[in-house]
Amino acid sequence: MVQKRIYAFGGGKAEGNKDMKELLGGKGAGLAEMSNIGIPVPPGFTITTEVCTDYYRSGKRLPRGLDAEIRQALKRVGALTGKGLGDAKNPLLVSVRSGARVSMPGMMDTVLNLGLNDETVEALAARSGNPRFAWDSYRRFVAMFGDVVLGMKPERKEDRDPFEEILEHKKHARGVRFDSELPVEALRELVAEFKGEIQRRKGKAFPDDPFEQLLEAVAAVFRSWENDRAVAYRKMYGYPSDWGTAVTVQSMVFGNMGEDSGTGVAFTRNPATGDDEFYGEFLVNAQGEDVVAGTRTPQKIAELAARWPNIARQLEDVRRKLERHYRDMQDIEFTIEQGKLYVLQTRTGKRTGLAAVRIAVDLAADRLITKGEALQRIDPEALNHLLRPIFDADRKAAAVKEGRFLAKGLPAGPGAASGRLVFFANDAEAWRTRGETVVLARHETSPEDIRGMAAAEGFLTAFGGMTSHAALVARQMGKVAIVGCEALSFDYHARKMTVATEAGARTFSEGDSISIDGSTGEVLEGKLETRPSEVIQVLVEKSRDPADAPVYREFAEVMAWADDARRLKVRANADQPDQAAVSIAFGAQGIGLCRTEHMFFGEGKIGPMREMIVAETVEDRRAALAKLLPLQREDFRGIFLAMGPRPTTIRTLDPPLHEFLPQDEKGVASLAAATGKSVERIRARIEELHESNPMLGHRGCRLGISYPEITEMQARAIFEAACDAADQGVKVEPEVMIPLVGAKKELDDQAALVRQVADEVFRARGRKVKYLVGTMIEIPRGALTAAEIAKTAEFFSFGTNDLTQTTFGLSRDDTGPVLATYLQKDIWPGDPFVSIDRDGVGALMKIGVAGGRATNPGLKLGICGEHGGDPSSVAFCHEIGLDYVSCSPYRLPIARLAAAQAALRDRAAAPARPSKAAAKKVAARPGKAASSAKAAASAAAVRDGKRAKGRNGKVAAAAAVGIGAAIAGKSIAKATRRAAKALARRTR
Ligand code: PEP
Ligand code: MG
Repeated sequence: MVQKRIYAFGGGKAEGNKDMKELLGGKGAGLAEMSNIGIPVPPGFTITTEVCTDYYRSGKRLPRGLDAEIRQALKRVGALTGKGLGDAKNPLLVSVRSGARVSMPGMMDTVLNLGLNDETVEALAARSGNPRFAWDSYRRFVAMFGDVVLGMKPERKEDRDPFEEILEHKKHARGVRFDSELPVEALRELVAEFKGEIQRRKGKAFPDDPFEQLLEAVAAVFRSWENDRAVAYRKMYGYPSDWGTAVTVQSMVFGNMGEDSGTGVAFTRNPATGDDEFYGEFLVNAQGEDVVAGTRTPQKIAELAARWPNIARQLEDVRRKLERHYRDMQDIEFTIEQGKLYVLQTRTGKRTGLAAVRIAVDLAADRLITKGEALQRIDPEALNHLLRPIFDADRKAAAVKEGRFLAKGLPAGPGAASGRLVFFANDAEAWRTRGETVVLARHETSPEDIRGMAAAEGFLTAFGGMTSHAALVARQMGKVAIVGCEALSFDYHARKMTVATEAGARTFSEGDSISIDGSTGEVLEGKLETRPSEVIQVLVEKSRDPADAPVYREFAEVMAWADDARRLKVRANADQPDQAAVSIAFGAQGIGLCRTEHMFFGEGKIGPMREMIVAETVEDRRAALAKLLPLQREDFRGIFLAMGPRPTTIRTLDPPLHEFLPQDEKGVASLAAATGKSVERIRARIEELHESNPMLGHRGCRLGISYPEITEMQARAIFEAACDAADQGVKVEPEVMIPLVGAKKELDDQAALVRQVADEVFRARGRKVKYLVGTMIEIPRGALTAAEIAKTAEFFSFGTNDLTQTTFGLSRDDTGPVLATYLQKDIWPGDPFVSIDRDGVGALMKIGVAGGRATNPGLKLGICGEHGGDPSSVAFCHEIGLDYVSCSPYRLPIARLAAAQAALRDRAAAPARPSKAAAKKVAARPGKAASSAKAAASAAAVRDGKRAKGRNGKVAAAAAVGIGAAIAGKSIAKATRRAAKALARRTR
């Protein structure tokens, strides 16, 4: 059969439809679909992407016979419009546009007003009664043809566009500023001069035959598929080059034919808020490019009804029709030509996170989409928009315009923070106490800074990556943060921060105001107003009634649907009762990681902790631990009471001990005084504890094995607190987790100790509490010997921060320079500390899962590395069959949604097809179906998942590119002082 190469549309019907994007491109498919559903589109036809592929295959030649088919298609357009290409009385003008299957905005070429020549221009002038319009269209066409079809671009970097240059001369000669001020005579001259330039540069005449113009333009649009911009864009998004572009030839309509004409762009809903309102702008007597050029201020779409009530009604109709038909918010372009409305384009509209949630909820409520589809349409990361304080967009733009932009770092904690600069954690606390709002700026942060970090609105660091201490704490506390902002340098003595800006170095002092946008990584000078998120007001501050919080209610609804759909449980990484409470508010079903070391920096604890570390005998160590016991017990009791019956995983001490020791003279002196030892002795002990590679040294279970009394004290505190909570009627479920295990015997040693202490406590308290002892799998040997380790472990939790570090052999604190180069050279697809490296770290996890479950099929499996809050990693955890993911409290909503999407995709991929009745039921209530294994193969969910797959793949690719670009854009930091490095290596 002869391959169909041209698909016509217009006049209320079309040969193509919306599902033919691969063949007709997004634009062609959209136009065909609009024709089919009775939306007024100017008639035309689309030449398929296959023709584009043929064109390249045959050495850039249009296939034989295509010209005859184009003539045939033009006849149909002529019949519908009453015009003809080249007709000297009633000429047809067409646009020739590119259109790939995915939107590649502005990457390829377009030719407008094709069909004009010295004869047809006169006919156009006569019929429109507007010679100026006709000649203006003609001079634009000749220039565009010269540029796009004949390749008359500037020849050198310093050159201007040749046609622009002639135009400038003309305006100068005529003494006018704007093109629109040129008289008809000048436009006529321009056409002749443009043609002369073509002859001069190309050695051939501008083609006057409209059909010749058309064939050349079609070939030029095909060629634009391989231009530099399009190639780079495809590479960036991983689109194959053999997709090709379609070419749509469409009769032109003009919005600049008088006061009864106009043009506009609109979204079927508000793309910023998601409100169900027609949102857009239009210009009277103008062409599309006038809207884009911004030389005239457009009017709001709401004002259109006052001018053209009839058109406003038709547009409202179009809006409803398109939304119902596409079942999503659309972004449209329209033109009104002498009182008649035409829609030129429709596509899925881009939106903010806030709008994505609202639109999905509203469309599901209207039963336009299922709840499953609604869930798949929201990018999990976009939920951040609903949680973080934000800058008022207009005020921020104004600040940038005023030159207040200073520098850019890594966006580690999304949201907006504005406050006075402080450089020390204790200052942050003190300033906060006296009612100041502060931003803590430092070279980097360490666990000692934790209280100051809690007091600050946000943090800004010069050093560190996405798993640096500041980044991790930001996510855990829900703080705004920018890390690795290398333009910053600090003089702590002078209490000054210098920013290397494009305009030179700027110095800021303590107390100066600064604003940071943790969603974009931008640092701005001065104060900027922020708005707290409604969700936070309801869930965390509890200062707002849900009834009075529509955004919160939508968020809660989406979360409820997600919970219904997901299989993975979600837990939080939290180590304070208040964090536990926030976690529960965000839907945590337990704590997956309580890092006990974070507690030792709390009130009254660092002293005895240091005494314990510098102790030189077991007795001295026990004496110090005895001081810590009641304090730790209190910490745990608080957490247990906050968590109630939810399981709580508490990890025994992990970081190298010297990280708790004082660095400064004052700290050393007070430790000497507290222990009754000399300053020299304390210094010697600190020196003794120093390690070259602390993250690969005396840490994790190695500490508890060397100093069993530490594990003993922690286990006692855990079980006594659990008994206390049980006494208060709270049924707790502690899970004691041993870090950095690489051999069964390590776990045997520590588990025996924990169990022995549990028995002692239970005997003494006369009661028992259900508990588990398990391990982290965070070094490769742990994963490789998982089958052995599972003989002792009652659960595994993958510590993917350390597992990534040890698998790659790359320090998690020194990723900056390596990442920058590796991402730039495309060696890694993204930061492996952000998204799990499936081929390496993921392979080890699979070995760990298989080994663990081979020994103990019921083994509880989770993840508590930072990846537990990353959507793509959550999907991976779902795929390999983990039971839960644990992440920072503020990433819980993201994890819940990502887990739901993974489950929906899973079901979609299931082979069996259920009965129609079952599919119908699921389509109406996908959430319920999600919790039923039988419904796993539901036809409705199959549809949901398939659609989502492509979309999510794209989102993930875009996110990876975004992060890559953010990191690659940084210059590489020079080595820092040794002390700074040591600090940076500290406890996560
Ligand atoms: C990990 O290594 O993934 C982990 C959770 O532990 P930490 O970050 O405390 O080393
Ligand atoms: Mg770890």
